[in-house]
Amino acid sequence: MKTLHHKIEIVTDKIWSDLIESYPKLVRFDAPKIVLCNRLTRTAGKNYQEENRIHLANKFFVRNHSEMMLTILPHEIAHQADFNLFGLSEKSCGHGKKWAKIMLELGLPANKYHSLEI
Ligand SMILES: [Zn+2]
Repeated sequence: MKTLHHKIEIVTDKIWSDLIESYPKLVRFDAPKIVLCNRLTRTAGKNYQEENRIHLANKFFVRNHSEMMLTILPHEIAHQADFNLFGLSEKSCGHGKKWAKIMLELGLPANKYHSLEI
């Protein structure tokens, strides 16, 4: 049986290769590392861009598995791609125009806040 972490890594790799098709420059970067985090409680996910790492709140997977996979994970990966491609230009506004365009490339609405964010 595949572990949750392994499933998340498979989805992450798929999203990352989709993004490389839209943004070939991303081929120079590894897909972000995923950490399932027990301490993260106020938000479902958090991207540490300079460390190429995404923390996902373990507890949200229990009741919101599909939303975590289909919404939160791509949302956080888009933040990493935004940073890799465009640097810190939009740091003060992590949900800038370039981030929104990356979300659209993934076929997702560029919602600044996701429903699992408190
Ligand atoms: Zn965000």
